Amino acid sequence: MTLRKYENLEKKDLRYIWHPCSQMKDYETLPPIVIDHAKGLYLYDIYGKKYADVISSWWCNLLGHSNPKINKAITNQLKKLEHVIFANFSNRAAIELAEKLISVAPKGLSKVFFTDNGSSAVESALKMSFQYHYQTGNPQKKKFMAISDAYHGETVGALSVGGVDLYSKIFQPLLIDILRVQGPDCYRCPFNKNRETCKAECFVYAEKVLKKEAKNIAAFIIEPMLQGSAGMRIYSPKYLKKLRKACTKYNIHLIADEIASGYGRTGKMFACNHADITPDIMCVGKGLTGGYLPMALTITNDKIYKAFYADYNEGKMFIHSHTYSGNPLACAAALEVLNVLEKENIIEKTQEKAEFFNDLIKEEFSSNKFVGDIRNIGLINAIEIVEDKKTKKSFDAKRRTGYKIYKEALKLGLLLRPLGDVMYFNPPLTITEKEMISVVKLCKKAFLPIL
Ligand SMILES: *Cc1c(COP(=O)(O)O)cnc(C)c1O
Repeated sequence: MTLRKYENLEKKDLRYIWHPCSQMKDYETLPPIVIDHAKGLYLYDIYGKKYADVISSWWCNLLGHSNPKINKAITNQLKKLEHVIFANFSNRAAIELAEKLISVAPKGLSKVFFTDNGSSAVESALKMSFQYHYQTGNPQKKKFMAISDAYHGETVGALSVGGVDLYSKIFQPLLIDILRVQGPDCYRCPFNKNRETCKAECFVYAEKVLKKEAKNIAAFIIEPMLQGSAGMRIYSPKYLKKLRKACTKYNIHLIADEIASGYGRTGKMFACNHADITPDIMCVGKGLTGGYLPMALTITNDKIYKAFYADYNEGKMFIHSHTYSGNPLACAAALEVLNVLEKENIIEKTQEKAEFFNDLIKEEFSSNKFVGDIRNIGLINAIEIVEDKKTKKSFDAKRRTGYKIYKEALKLGLLLRPLGDVMYFNPPLTITEKEMISVVKLCKKAFLPIL
């Protein structure tokens, strides 16, 4: 790599760009790292420094950066068609993708609606659910239910169903009213149970509200198995089973937000597979295109679809349109992702690797006196740092312990992006054992000066 310091790219970046999820003032001491190229697990900045991307660049890079097969699929598509309007028109890549996705989705899901980011997939799901009930004789069903610390994206509707203060607190006056109930928190379980053996006792919180409000509720939205932004919280599939049962009983849609948990991240194709349930509506995004192009999907069943199917003048159609719906380049990437997952048995291999990775992390971190919890599902591993292991008391957030470790890790060439004081690994499914050993070592080294 040639040295390009003279270009002053970092200065130009800060002159013109407002970055997401950042206090821009922090960039005074930690300027943006400008990436030049990437391969597999690694990012390379403009000075040639290499970073292990163990967070899959915001959980979306699924099969390694610059994956030759996905590169080729996009290039081939590019030679034929870059984009076409998706109303009244269609394209081969979108059709083939939808067909293949339905064949691997939880049984009963049958129709694919295209959007271009996860938040929009959630917005579509909420609107679809409301309109379904409106058109099937239940116009009073207009409330949505969600659990504490949920994350479903950051447009106004998606933000409303989310419950993480960092994202939504200031916008509260703009948000729609949500029925929020305490969700599972297995590290600090109010019933003192264990995730492996509990009966999802904590479902009582949801049950109480469901019982009382059911007739007014359109849908219950949840991140199955894994609450990502809440700090990689993992909970029992029994919770989902109970929820599925209750939703069916009360004619409430179960919306599974699989944007972070889908595509093998939890060791199965979809997190819903752990509980053997089929949601009424499922949102996917992130890993869908392997982290190449922005696209998300809202997938539903025939029952919901049919409630919109009528003569034009009945006005029952679903109006939610995005310019880039069904973009052929994104669809070609997404189709190739499914092909690679299948042909290379990636998900089965992930399960084998997951155990190795988790053992390794436990070995290196469980004796640290500030490591309160190590939890894992699939290749996702989270390390929760606490001030006091006994009481599980967190450090004062103002200390920014996680951020300090993040900065230390960057120096060492490791891209961790902690959620508060929860460090986590969410690497591409293609990570090798050798790479796992290397990143765990780096992470341990990053802890040293801080804890
Ligand atoms: C990332 C994420 C979203 C939002 O997706 P965007 O593409 O960032 O809008 C929604 N839900 C979950 C669970 C996510 O992890």
